[in-house]
Formats: sequence, structure tokens, C-alpha cells
Amino acid sequence: MTTPARTLLVTGGAGFIGSNFVLSAVASGFAKIINLDKLTYAGNPANLEPLRGNSSHVLVEGDICDAALVRRLLAEHRPDGIVHFAAESHVDRSIDSPDAFVRTNVVGTFTLLDAARAYMAEAPPGFRFVHVSTDEVFGSLGEEGHFHPESPYDPSSPYSASKASSDHFARAYHRTYRVPTIVTNCSNNYGPMQFPEKLVPLMILNCVEGKPLPVYGAGANVRDWLFVEDHCNGVRLALENGKPGATYLFGGRAEITNLRMVETICDLVDELTGKPAGTSRTLITFVKDRPGHDLRYAVDATKAEKELGWQRSCDLADGLRRTVLWYLENKSWCSEITSGRYRRERLGLGAST
Ligand code: NAD
Repeated sequence: MTTPARTLLVTGGAGFIGSNFVLSAVASGFAKIINLDKLTYAGNPANLEPLRGNSSHVLVEGDICDAALVRRLLAEHRPDGIVHFAAESHVDRSIDSPDAFVRTNVVGTFTLLDAARAYMAEAPPGFRFVHVSTDEVFGSLGEEGHFHPESPYDPSSPYSASKASSDHFARAYHRTYRVPTIVTNCSNNYGPMQFPEKLVPLMILNCVEGKPLPVYGAGANVRDWLFVEDHCNGVRLALENGKPGATYLFGGRAEITNLRMVETICDLVDELTGKPAGTSRTLITFVKDRPGHDLRYAVDATKAEKELGWQRSCDLADGLRRTVLWYLENKSWCSEITSGRYRRERLGLGAST
């Protein structure tokens, strides 16, 4: 795809990463973003409020499993690329209700790929399909080593198994039908507009309100964290400079245990809200571990750095400070989202089916 691209079909663009991507794509001059989103509990049109009245953005409420709708959007708007974020994305929910993950992540991705296959005959030159995925498809690392694009798949949760399946379909559609798919696998994201069931916003909001901070097991699991804007830049570079059929990994070179992450958030909230140092750490509560909890993820992003020219711009200390400030400054966004059906309760013990 040549820069600047003209029209994109983005899926899941009302969710956390998708909405950050859509906002930056419109700001950087894309002529039109067609945003297909089912608006599940995780999709929030308020994330797209800055685009109200902007004709470069069209939000279409619909399901990626709806083949007729996807085909119609492709025929009507003739996009230069598809950027596919839509997914059920929360591991704990996948333990409670895996069926929705198979439907959206596997069947939905297949539906998009198959519509793209039919669309290839009329697609503009340079058309690309970027499938956004996670490093969790590779399973768990021991104390050493990093994931790289050739790492074997070894998913542990229904979420990561469904994402692994969708990655395989994306690659197979390139090998079999020459659909120009590019797969990206990224480490844990954090930043503005993340639904507060995920670790970082949950801890920030609970700290602010003086509620317990549930840490799974001993908090020893290690994650690599990337600021959401850096992930969005990587996806954009994969769209513009990625090689069809290739896989690119993005990570923050920021490994930290979950417990250390929570302590860092506590200290930042105390500092930025004027609470005495150490106040929020007293809220840390160790709870039963997640079944199948992977010990450690870490990403080697060398290929993306060399081939796409991608660089992380924000380190963990800076990104976390920006994130905590965003949640403190956007209280109405937070209260609206947590006044609905989700009330920050514990999920993922496999209690429901
Ligand atoms: P999210 O849960 O915040 O957003 C998902 C969006 O998809 C929501 O807007 C939701 O309404 C929409 N959606 C769900 N089912 C749909 C369907 N059937 N049809 C249309 N839209 C549907 O997720 P996120 O954290 O923004 O993640 C986006 C993508 O990035 C996912 O594919 C995820 O696997 C991947 N990813 C996430 C992370 C992370 O740390 N959050 C890390 C690496 C990769």
C-alpha cells in the first residue's frame, strides 16, 4: 500500500486498541475509515467522540460474522486495506464462556478473509489485510528467551487458542489464495480507553477509590508491556510497508512481574492524587490464580524494527504516567463504563459455561 492510503475497513475500531488506531489514522490524513464494530460490552462509541461530525469516519454497527454485510461494505467503499482488530479479547471471559471466542475470533476472522478473497478481483493495487494478534498464541516462556516470528504456537487459554486459529487462517489465505495478509503479534498493551476489566485500568480505578487490588497468585507472572500508541504505529507500518504473508512481532522491551506493575501503579496514583506515599500498596490482595496462567511473555521485535523501521517511542515509566493521568482526567468516561453491567467483579474462575 502506498502512503497516504485512501480508504480503510477497520474492524473493532470502538474497542481499546482499535479506537486509538482510528483516531490516529484520521488525524494522519486517511480519507475514510469504515469502522465495523458490533459494540459488545468492550466497544465504546465514546472512544470515538472526537470524530463526531467528521465525514472521514463512518461507524457501522455490525458483526464481522455477517458475510453479507462485510461483502457489501467492501463493494460499497472499495477499501485499500483491512485492519482487523475485532475480537473477544479477555482471557478470563474466555475461561467462563469460550464459545463467543470461537465465534468472533475464528469464524469472524474466516468470514473477513473469505470476503477479502472474493474482493481481490476488484481490490485497488497494493491492497493489504492486516490481522492483529497477540503474543499469547506462543504460550508461556520459562525464565529465559523471547518469542520471535518463528516461535511455535502453544496457546494455553481458549482466548489464545482462538487467536492462534485465526492467525493460521490468515496465513493459509495468503498461501492458498494469495490474499495479501500480514499477521502482527503484540505483547500486552496499556494506555487510554482500555476497558477496566484489564489489569492496568482496573488497578488505577480501584486505587483511586480505595478498593482492594486483586493480584492473581503471587503476582510473579511476567508480562512485556507496550504503550498502545506504539502498537498502533506498528500496525500502520505493517499495513504500509509489510510484506504479504509475513509476521511481525511488537513488544515494549519492558518485562515486569504483575506484582511490580501493580506496585508501580499504586505509587503513581499516590503521587498524582496527593495521597501519602505507600497508601495504595496496602490495598494489594492476593487472590486465587487464573487457571492455565502463563508464567512469562517476552517479545523479540527485531524483525519489525529492521524491516518496518518500527521503534517503541515511549518507555514503561513514561507510558504508565500518561495512562494514569488519562484515567484521572477522564472520570466521566470511567464512571459511564463501570456503571453498566461490568462492575469490576472477578471473572475467569470457570464458574459459568
Ligand atoms: P477490545 O476488547 O478492547 O475491543 C474489541 C472490539 O471488537 C470491541 O469494540 C468489540 O465491540 C468489537 N467486537 C467484538 N466482537 C465483534 C464482532 N463479532 N464483530 C464486530 N466487532 C466485534 O480489544 P483490544 O484490547 O482493543 O484488542 C484488539 C485486538 O488486538 C484483538 O484482536 C486482540 O486480540 C489484539 N491484541 C490485544 C492486546 C491487548 O493487550 N489488549 C495485545 C495484543 C493483541
